[in-house]
Amino acid sequence: MHELGIMTDVLDTALRVAEEHGGKKVTKITLKVGLMSGIVADYVQSFFDVIAKDTIASGAELVIESDPAVFVCRKCGGQTVYKKLGPEYICEHCGSQALRLTSGYGFQIVSVGIL
Ligand SMILES: [Zn+2]
Repeated sequence: MHELGIMTDVLDTALRVAEEHGGKKVTKITLKVGLMSGIVADYVQSFFDVIAKDTIASGAELVIESDPAVFVCRKCGGQTVYKKLGPEYICEHCGSQALRLTSGYGFQIVSVGIL
């Protein structure tokens, strides 16, 4: 239930933003979700709908922007970008699998739309 905890944080943040700006309703939340974050984008909206019920964020639309995974090779130092989850991750420069993930594991709120 990884997504549920995260969506609770998102809801709290959205409600706080609305309150700070005197908003009466949260209409839209844009999220950037890292490919390697383990968050399944398909589940995010349905989790949110459940927890946002009876709040001013009820019915808000979630827009998910995918953040690709960026790896740096430990052998040649080359950078490889993956936009889809692979069965494996290989350096496109030298074929090594000794990669370090430098981006695409996070999760952030890009914007909150309020009325
Ligand atoms: Zn390499």
